[in-house]
Amino acid sequence: MTLRGFKSFASATTLSFEPGVTCVVGPNGSGKSNVVDALAWVMGEQGAKTLRGGKMEDVIFAGTAGRPPLGRAEVSLTIDNTDGALPIDYTEVTISRTLFRSGGSEYAINGSACRLLDIQDLLSDSGLGREMHVIVGQGQLDAVLRATPEDRRGFVEEAAGVLKHRKRKEKALRKLDAMQANLTRLADLTTEIR
Ligand code: ATP
Repeated sequence: MTLRGFKSFASATTLSFEPGVTCVVGPNGSGKSNVVDALAWVMGEQGAKTLRGGKMEDVIFAGTAGRPPLGRAEVSLTIDNTDGALPIDYTEVTISRTLFRSGGSEYAINGSACRLLDIQDLLSDSGLGREMHVIVGQGQLDAVLRATPEDRRGFVEEAAGVLKHRKRKEKALRKLDAMQANLTRLADLTTEIR
């Protein structure tokens, strides 16, 4: 994973995660959690609060006494796909996300611009879905234990890959509703014209 201008990582910083356990060690406030935030962010996280900020712009390096703020934050994540876990014809997949202070944002898969949805779709069958249960934050275990049965079912559905289809179904139903409203309007207009 390479971070540029993301939170406390002003200069380009590359972290390599080898198979097995990786420990990140450092003094309080040195940026350990920012690494996890970057991982969630590049995989499409949309909630500024989840990323411990007030607004999304807060992920952009805000400057220090000796260094001016930057205009953009960029994170790219290269995933070894030799086992074909991601449904794409490449043995190595790089997803990247850039946010500009001016407001624009860009996503790319292997250097080609794409939509957030494309990244979410690419990752969702691999268990790295939108709800990010692969990242267990401080206090989150507690939240799972205290969850209502409905919420707990949500966790299981996400893990089983059902949630993606549920979200698509909801989206399709909303479109159908809108279409029905258009049809009704059309029928009204036809009656008026006659
Ligand atoms: P702890 O051990 O206390 O949990 P940590 O090593 O996990 O600490 P983080 O929470 O990752 O530390 O990093 C916090 C640091 O990141 C703070 O010093 C904060 O000022 C800095 N930081 C966060 N956002 C930005 C930003 N947009 N620009 C510059 N620095 C930032």
